[in-house]
Amino acid sequence: MSAGPTGTGAAGTDAFTPAGRAVTVAGLGVSGAGAARALARLGARVTVVDGGNGDAQQAGAAALEADGVAVRLGDGAALPPGTELVVTSPGWRPDSPLFAAAAAAGVPVWGDVELAWRLRGHGGRRPADWLAVTGTNGKTTTTRMLAAILAAAGLRTAAVGNIGTPLTDVVLAEEPHDVLAVELSSYQLHWAPSLRAHSAAVLNLAPDHLDWHGSMAAYAADKGRVYHGNRVACVYNAADAATEELVREADVVEGCRAVGFTLGAPGPSQLGVVDGLLVDRAFVPQRHRQAQELAGVADIAPSAGPAAPHNVANALAAAALARAHGVPPAAVRDGLRAFTPDAHRIARVAETGGVTYVNDSKATNPHAAQASLAAYEPVVWIAGGLAKGAAFDDLVSRAAGRLRGVVLIGAERHLIGAALARHAPDVPVVDLDRTDTGAMAAAVRAAAGLARPGDTVLLAPACASMDMFTNYGRRGDAFAEAVRALAAGERTP
Ligand code: ADP
Repeated sequence: MSAGPTGTGAAGTDAFTPAGRAVTVAGLGVSGAGAARALARLGARVTVVDGGNGDAQQAGAAALEADGVAVRLGDGAALPPGTELVVTSPGWRPDSPLFAAAAAAGVPVWGDVELAWRLRGHGGRRPADWLAVTGTNGKTTTTRMLAAILAAAGLRTAAVGNIGTPLTDVVLAEEPHDVLAVELSSYQLHWAPSLRAHSAAVLNLAPDHLDWHGSMAAYAADKGRVYHGNRVACVYNAADAATEELVREADVVEGCRAVGFTLGAPGPSQLGVVDGLLVDRAFVPQRHRQAQELAGVADIAPSAGPAAPHNVANALAAAALARAHGVPPAAVRDGLRAFTPDAHRIARVAETGGVTYVNDSKATNPHAAQASLAAYEPVVWIAGGLAKGAAFDDLVSRAAGRLRGVVLIGAERHLIGAALARHAPDVPVVDLDRTDTGAMAAAVRAAAGLARPGDTVLLAPACASMDMFTNYGRRGDAFAEAVRALAAGERTP
């Protein structure tokens, strides 16, 4: 960690005035359309380009044109002449030809986060501080916990970024915020070179989205950008050395501190757990001798039942960012109590026949599934889908001892099946060779057949859902419906 003369957090020399500028927006999705409208409202001459030309794009184009935005469909590669700035949508790969054309023409490329950051003081608004959260898993949960804590402290805040309202809308809102809880994906960080958060956390780092970034090193480097220019604290996971390494490499403002979180007893400059309590040894006057109780582990979303260990870690990270912003201990407790998890994240669906059914459909990669499997024993695991190039040996060998049985679904289930054959050959496996709409009901019935009273049946697929479902939400809904049908004693086809 080295101190550099980086940003002040106030709207400064990086501020951007869109009026009269020729801006090309890449992509006609939610993010692109939002950015295009905001820029047009501020007087920019905006052209949206999109390679698609289907019914949905044509409808989107008509709506944007009515708002004074030019749209070019069917060609996402050529840079419109005169472009001064390209604003990209998160889905566009960094090697897209449009960006090569921009680079060749000396035109900068910004993502939605960079644009929002540059606009944050627009119209004389007082810029809010940004507390940023990234990591492979746990971002949404931690960001929402953080917003709940900040709100409990009486601050005007919102959970934004990769969730909720588009960031450009938030920074241009008439209603001012004191501080924002900002979830940032690796894609967004890739295109946000001048972002300088007040404080930031990288929750964990495991292979994901490598097809987009090209390599693990490039993915890690993009995640690490979140620490650059931090003013008060770089929060890292003491159990994940890669996150600490990113802090060491970061160029921060003089006086910014590295603060760790741990599920064990905290050392100086850490937050951790002692006797069922979340404890702060970082933001106390004498951290070598003092510790401050923040909340009980039981205070974390009590309505959702006992917190899984990874959600205790998420709560500690959220608490660290809130404490870096000066939030008092009682607000940490009150915020965590008020927090309710989003759907499909370790959601207890029902208990029937002595077996508990848990929906963690959002576990879309092996690292997430590993965290959820670690919270249950014995467990019948429903897994499979699209692997996104991931490997499953590590996950399966760590979980082997707690598995009662496994039900495999989806297009690339054979990859998990092969890992089970290598590392857990005695665990019974039901391999469901069907991808029709009734497949999830069959999976739940098969899981019920493997489970014994006291067990948990856990949907934590470790894979993306798009081979069988529109998204992970639909997959979780199908699971919950099948469980409810089972509990009601019904027979589904
Ligand atoms: P993200 O926004 O990063 O996708 P979420 O908060 O939506 O993260 O959680 C997604 C899934 O990741 C959860 O359903 C759970 O399986 C897993 N998860 C959550 N927090 C953690 C964590 N700290 N470490 C590992 N896995 C986690």
